[in-house]
Amino acid sequence: MQRRFDRKSFDRDAFETVLRRRFFLAPAFEIYGGVAGLFDYGPPGCAMKNHLIQLWRDHFVVEEGMLEIDGPTLTPDPVLRASGHVDRFQDYMVRDLDTGACYRADHLLRETLENRIAAMDRKRTDVQEDRLRSAMETCLQRIDEMNQEQIAAAYQQFDIRAPESDAPLSAPYPFNLMFQTQIGPTGTIPAYLRPETAQGIFVNFRRLLDYNNGRMPFACAQIGLSFRNEISPRAGILRVREFAQAEIEHFVHPDRKDHPKFNLIADLELILLPRKEQHAARSREQMTTVLLRAAEAVRQGIVDNETLAYFIARTQQYAQMIGILPNHMRFRQHLESEMAHYARDCWDLEVETSYGWVECVGLADRACYDLQAHSAASKVDLVAYEKFDEPRDETFLQITPLKRVIGTKFRGETPQVLEAIEKLGETERAQLQQQLTDQDQVQLGPYVITREMVTIERVNRKIHGRSYCPSVIEPSFGIGRLLYCVLEHAFYNRTGGDELRTVLALKPAIAPVKSVVLPLSKNEVFEPVIQAVLHALAKCRLTVRLDESNVSIGRRYARADEIGVPFCVTIDFDSLVDHSVTLRERDSMEQVRGSVGDVVRVLVELVTGERSWTELVSTDPSLKPFTGQQSTSAVEDGTVCEKPTQSA
Ligand code: AMP
Repeated sequence: MQRRFDRKSFDRDAFETVLRRRFFLAPAFEIYGGVAGLFDYGPPGCAMKNHLIQLWRDHFVVEEGMLEIDGPTLTPDPVLRASGHVDRFQDYMVRDLDTGACYRADHLLRETLENRIAAMDRKRTDVQEDRLRSAMETCLQRIDEMNQEQIAAAYQQFDIRAPESDAPLSAPYPFNLMFQTQIGPTGTIPAYLRPETAQGIFVNFRRLLDYNNGRMPFACAQIGLSFRNEISPRAGILRVREFAQAEIEHFVHPDRKDHPKFNLIADLELILLPRKEQHAARSREQMTTVLLRAAEAVRQGIVDNETLAYFIARTQQYAQMIGILPNHMRFRQHLESEMAHYARDCWDLEVETSYGWVECVGLADRACYDLQAHSAASKVDLVAYEKFDEPRDETFLQITPLKRVIGTKFRGETPQVLEAIEKLGETERAQLQQQLTDQDQVQLGPYVITREMVTIERVNRKIHGRSYCPSVIEPSFGIGRLLYCVLEHAFYNRTGGDELRTVLALKPAIAPVKSVVLPLSKNEVFEPVIQAVLHALAKCRLTVRLDESNVSIGRRYARADEIGVPFCVTIDFDSLVDHSVTLRERDSMEQVRGSVGDVVRVLVELVTGERSWTELVSTDPSLKPFTGQQSTSAVEDGTVCEKPTQSA
């Protein structure tokens, strides 16, 4: 049965208490007061994060045969200037004119309008207020596409003031989100902490293509930390200042964006929220998704091309594999006004949480923008070569340098001049011809070239191929956001007994601890079996913990449930006689009994997902259903657990 998530009744206080108490996450540098937007992942959080990354690597890098690199986070200024980050990687900010507190302008506008609308909902309104309400709703729908002037106009129109002091606010102004620094002791190399991992891949394009033996298309991934000086980090780890990103740059011919493995996902139903549905909805909350086969989405032109649809499909599979609930996720298409001018089509994987819909993955067809920008700035051609099936005839503007004339004029610098002429592209050659006709001479870098130095003629030639600048399709994952969403979707309360117990229904593959071993008591007679079980589990590389504490088995189960341990192995007095142990599943609380060897064998199958618990219970002949400790947590708590009897 599909688990349900209800964001309205979600008990975020209880949830956050568990995350902090069991040290999934905690504010970093807490004993010094902490810094907003910086978090530590404690042992279970860190283990989960590693599992998410490992599964991501298997699902994308390994299965898709991608390349992977690992570059520095410190990035020199020219790289991020060329990519556009120095000039444009910014959010708009407003400042409380009394206290100096800063707010992200679009967030504060959204929050204020949503609160005002909610307040109106609680009382009866007149016609004038209805008009105001409708204006606010229209504004809310457009916030993501607004520019600086439009945000400023909305602040004026709705008289937005500082939330804490009610003081007036400054006009919105841009704030660059990158952390600036200098490299080296003299401070002469300006640099930034990278705001995304993607640029490290673009600047290595030539080496990567070479490594791939010149073959296109190909993809390269990078997993690592990115840094953004968020204006007002909040919502736990959803908006932080340092976070793990996993990005893919899939390089493809701009006119051939079909995907060789598309047929494998063509029938997968994608959960889409296309532009049309967004325009039709009154608010973000009321948007209805459409389920569309990937092949149909491309055929109808809803998703721009096969490669983009392929990555949407693979992302959907990954999200479900790690435990995002399908009824609470969607791929939202960017509105035209939200996309950068060069982008062809963009979709965000959004996940529903107690904070609303949260973007966890961005998938964008960025056309040739990135490689062209770095080629222009670095003067290094970042291009691929395509060989034609048949040679083609082409007319070509040939510029032949007259070496004798050039040599007489430039002497020692002759090779550089020849190289500069040689490197001219088609457009530049045409410009040079035009200028020599108009003015008799032309400036080529530091050199003045005159008409006598070259001959120019249009010639016919056969060409066998040509260079082109590849397009890029970029899926960009925020690991921390996915992790948070998985945790919210997995969290539930188990009633029964005298107290409320919380459970994390994590998939075995990402659970931080796969199994807890529970001897009935601290009695040393259990020691040999404990060691045998621990040893066998460790040999299978399953993360396991031993809980020998002096509390009832039920309480120890509850402790394991709280951090999402999927299976517990219980050792009791019968274990001493026949070397059998009990295996208990977290969500059904069902138990089976078998020999240590069989239990460890099935644990591996369960954790790797080869078999489900239901399959196992009904089919594995080596395991017997165990009724002694079944049922509610209240019973688990009691002495029933002490000496269980095996069912026939
Ligand atoms: P972007 O490059 O802005 O499209 O971001 C790519 C992904 O990185 C997003 O989908 C998020 O999952 C993640 N991300 C971006 N900014 C943050 C942040 N401040 N904190 C946590 N994750 C973030």
